[in-house]
Amino acid sequence: MLRAKGITKTYWNGPKELCVLKDVHLEVAAHEVIAIVGPSGAGKSTLLHILGGLDDPTQGEVYLDDFCLSTLNDTAKAMVRNTRFGFVFQFYHLLQEFTALENVMMPALIRLGGRGVITGDAKKKAADLLAFLGLTERLTHRPSELSGGEQQRVAIARALMNDPEILFCDEPTGNLDYESGRQLQDFLMRLN
Ligand code: ADP
Ligand code: MG
Repeated sequence: MLRAKGITKTYWNGPKELCVLKDVHLEVAAHEVIAIVGPSGAGKSTLLHILGGLDDPTQGEVYLDDFCLSTLNDTAKAMVRNTRFGFVFQFYHLLQEFTALENVMMPALIRLGGRGVITGDAKKKAADLLAFLGLTERLTHRPSELSGGEQQRVAIARALMNDPEILFCDEPTGNLDYESGRQLQDFLMRLN
């Protein structure tokens, strides 16, 4: 389903070149769960961002089914990300001025392209996702009024809002205690 071919990512810090990913090949089949592990700074987030179409590789290509992500223009790529991918960022990237519920509903709003009115269904689905993740009592909280683990779970609910075919999670249990982390892992496996 997802295929990376010869991914290289180089950053330049002034004249200094930093090669983070070197010729990475990867294939992920439908229904497969894979974990990318490595020490801090190894390039895990960089690779996930490239696989998820959020960043471009310096060299190499990412294929979703048979089409190459880098051949899509920004609008088409955004559409793929909105409708087929869910992405949980390591640092959540929730929208600060919106409530937890609004953050989770956002992908549905974007999907409508501002043309439609958000339906009761979308609101109910967002609330259900948050309830499932144990946040029933936090629907109207803004991100600054949530703990790190709670923000992480809001980010997970948001990533699931449009029923993605592929869910990218960047250290999704990094801010959870052991028991909550284990429950989340079970949840993700069951979801798959
Ligand atoms: P991980 O997620 O495995 O901890 P990252 O993918 O975040 O690692 O980062 C890999 C390396 O790339 C790190 O050494 C980091 O400093 C460097 N890096 C990440 N983003 C940039 C950037 N925008 N410019 C320069 N260096 C970067
Ligand atoms: Mg990282």
